[in-house]
Amino acid sequence: MALIVQKYGGTSVADPDRIANVANRVLKSYTEGHRMVVVLSAMAGETDRLINLAKEMCDPPDPRELDVLLATGEQVTVSLFSMFLRSQGVPAASLLGHQACIYTDRSYGRARIIGIDTTRIREELKKGRIVTVAGFQGVDEVGNITTLGRGGSDTTAVAVAAALKADLCEIYTDVEGVYTTDPRIYHKARLLPKISYDEMLEMASLGAKVLEIRSVGFAKQYQVPLRVRSTFSEHPGTLVCKEDESMEAIPVSGVTYSRNDARVSILGVPDRPGIAVKFFKPVADANIVVDLIIQNSSVDGRADITFTVPKGDLRQTLEIVREVGKEVGARDILSDENIAKVSIVGVGMRNNAGIAARMFEALAAAGINILMISTSEIKISCVIEDKFTELAVRVLHDAFQLDQPR
Ligand code: ASP
Ligand code: MG
Repeated sequence: MALIVQKYGGTSVADPDRIANVANRVLKSYTEGHRMVVVLSAMAGETDRLINLAKEMCDPPDPRELDVLLATGEQVTVSLFSMFLRSQGVPAASLLGHQACIYTDRSYGRARIIGIDTTRIREELKKGRIVTVAGFQGVDEVGNITTLGRGGSDTTAVAVAAALKADLCEIYTDVEGVYTTDPRIYHKARLLPKISYDEMLEMASLGAKVLEIRSVGFAKQYQVPLRVRSTFSEHPGTLVCKEDESMEAIPVSGVTYSRNDARVSILGVPDRPGIAVKFFKPVADANIVVDLIIQNSSVDGRADITFTVPKGDLRQTLEIVREVGKEVGARDILSDENIAKVSIVGVGMRNNAGIAARMFEALAAAGINILMISTSEIKISCVIEDKFTELAVRVLHDAFQLDQPR
């Protein structure tokens, strides 16, 4: 008999029929004798609907009141789910974030979980009940309702699983699991039976959307075994877990892409100490996350600095950079939104030489020019022209034979 936390996303609970379907799935494990904690998202589209409703009232809406509003989406699904179970004679109880004692800081709209007091959840479990916890929401130290940020129900599930020391945390969604790449871009994408926390963290931050990234960080920190699988099939999906030897043998596990970034180039800045900080300090102070940075070697005492920022932050970045550019006498400032980042990820890269060369070779053979490169221990990213994104994903998938099962 295990303690299992299951989380179901918005499309899995999109209407009463689907909620009943989820209840029957949960009931199956419960009848087998497992203790079940179920975390639910709001119905698909509901959180967006509530945000738009708030904006009709006033724009921007007050953050505290917006969280009170958004938390209702999950209140609807957990209550419907539990009332259905009770109508079938199954003991069940729903708990909102504050009732489940999910404590967060007060950053409305992007609150961080600081602790969970599991007493109430455990009491309910002891009574033999299926406990349903509203995802995405918590409470601060004085009782204000908070929400964790979009997609936050994954984090709720993993945090609850960690706090309860659950045997397994299953994330049910509308895809079968984690793929070697986006199956919509390449039909040869293969479902990965297993992937390490670190690889999943890289893949999530590089554009793979199947798990919310903070939930993976939590899972790694507390070593919660995670299974990502589909609500609409019996396939076991992908296990996200601690690295093992079989994973180290595979140099590349996945290819990801992202079209979220724009490129900024500052041309002809004086090459002397203190110049880079003049540009990047105000950008950082504006809370803008800079990803790749390269600086070319200087000619005549002047250098070029090129970096990427999220497209949504480009305008503000350019304002800042132009201002500083004038001050230090930069020759020109350019920007380009038609770029994409393609990346290969794999823990096996650590002890395999020549992976980068194989990546560059594959891109070159397809006639794709590399604009920027960055590497970490387990990933290599190349910035390329946006129009080559799909092609790049396919040639890299082929180059590392990711369609071959292993
Ligand atoms: N309902 C929230 C959202 O749509 C949280 C979640 O689904 O995980 O972002
Ligand atoms: Mg969602």
